[in-house]
Amino acid sequence: MSSKPSSIELADAASELMKGVAGWLLIGLGVAGLLSGSGGIVQQAGTADIIAPVLVVGFAILFIISGVLVNPRFRRRLDRRHRPSRFGRVKTVENRTRSATEGRREPCVVCGSRSKEGPVRRYRQEYVVAGVPLWTISEKHNFYCPDCALAELSGYSTGSTDESDTAKRTITETE
Ligand SMILES: [Zn+2]
Repeated sequence: MSSKPSSIELADAASELMKGVAGWLLIGLGVAGLLSGSGGIVQQAGTADIIAPVLVVGFAILFIISGVLVNPRFRRRLDRRHRPSRFGRVKTVENRTRSATEGRREPCVVCGSRSKEGPVRRYRQEYVVAGVPLWTISEKHNFYCPDCALAELSGYSTGSTDESDTAKRTITETE
């Protein structure tokens, strides 16, 4: 957590919160519509009036989808989705670079010296359904000082042993 959030960060956080609330409202409306609409379909089954509940269900599904898309938390998950054929536990390794502007000091995992900037390697184990990470099983991150990063990470690009099970991506932007 940053110690002094600027007004821009506050505005970002506020808009993210609003989008989250809007997203959940849409999902709530969608679920309510889905329930009443499908109840209507059962009641009106076989009659000409079935068009109305079918429309309600159609809009309800649209509401739920847009609710998911507008929600920043879901968006982030969708952004790091895997192939749609992936189910179960998936391990990912993300590399990103921490810049000095983030104001955090952390000991390097190799030499222990504290540094403000350097690469962070994040190991994440997630439960994935149809490629979308639903929940995080475990997460840890290793921070490297620039000196050790050169030595440690240079051998990394040549490929690791469990290539097939580990999705690799490089994230350069800060979260
Ligand atoms: Zn180091």
